[in-house]
Amino acid sequence: MHFQWYPGHMTKAKRMMQENIKLIDLVIELVDARIPVSSRNPDIDELGKNKARLILLNKSDLAEEKQNDAWAEYFKEKGFSVVKVNSKRGGGIKSIQGVIQEACKEKIERDRKRGILNRPVRAMVVGIPNVGKSTFINALAGKACAKTGNKPGVTKGKQWIRLNKNVELLDTPGILWPKFEDQTVGLRLAFIGSIKDEILNTEELAMEMITFLTEKYPGVLEEKYSIEISEDSYECLRRIAESRHCLVKGNELDTNKAAILLIDDFRSGKLGRITLEFPEDYE
Ligand code: GDP
Repeated sequence: MHFQWYPGHMTKAKRMMQENIKLIDLVIELVDARIPVSSRNPDIDELGKNKARLILLNKSDLAEEKQNDAWAEYFKEKGFSVVKVNSKRGGGIKSIQGVIQEACKEKIERDRKRGILNRPVRAMVVGIPNVGKSTFINALAGKACAKTGNKPGVTKGKQWIRLNKNVELLDTPGILWPKFEDQTVGLRLAFIGSIKDEILNTEELAMEMITFLTEKYPGVLEEKYSIEISEDSYECLRRIAESRHCLVKGNELDTNKAAILLIDDFRSGKLGRITLEFPEDYE
């Protein structure tokens, strides 16, 4: 896992974000509720200093509710506003407007003292690829709102989505790449499908998943696949293959197919709501 490269599109995206961040009052950062730390890019703290900060635990429907609450507390203690959301289904979206006002109340108060009234809060959505930025923006903006900027006769500028008289959202989210300096972070990003098979092959990934689940979510594999757990994760994979009739050439077990099945079941929530990292490990 040694990435020396930093492709041009990443440099360009980061530069664009540095430009855009100057225009905004509030950074709305999406993280994956299953890996709230590993799905962050630590650069955002430097980029977003002096801005109001809101963290959204997105895909909260896929993570354990008790852990979602623990993570919300964790980030609140660090000074962030936090909301648990399910952008796909609209869960938590209704509360966002109120939370934005609350998160920006210092700025609003500052404006008021200077005699500036009713200047909308300007916000930008940021996060790693696939964390749900577009889905969230669509859920928040809905169909009702108008785009501003780039009107004919108006100086060409940024596209802002006017959510209401109080909030404008930059229409292009800021993409941050995850940082996987250590194996664990890389592995967790691979589990949720954020990075392809750069870390491990599918069978190894599945075996790591089996080891994790056996320790942290005992009973899940037994129940889902009607298997007995073995100490040996490869043997478990074979048992899943057997139980699900994953076969090659008629009767040989197809552990690769079983691995794909397991990983897909995890990603789509079919193993239940599972959190992969826990706040007590980051205190
Ligand atoms: P972006 O790359 O950050 O813009 O991510 P997208 O908005 O394209 O979302 C990536 C994938 O995650 C899509 O398949 C979405 O349907 C899915 N997704 C987004 N938000 C949620 C969520 O809250 N829950 C679940 N289960 N899936 C979500």
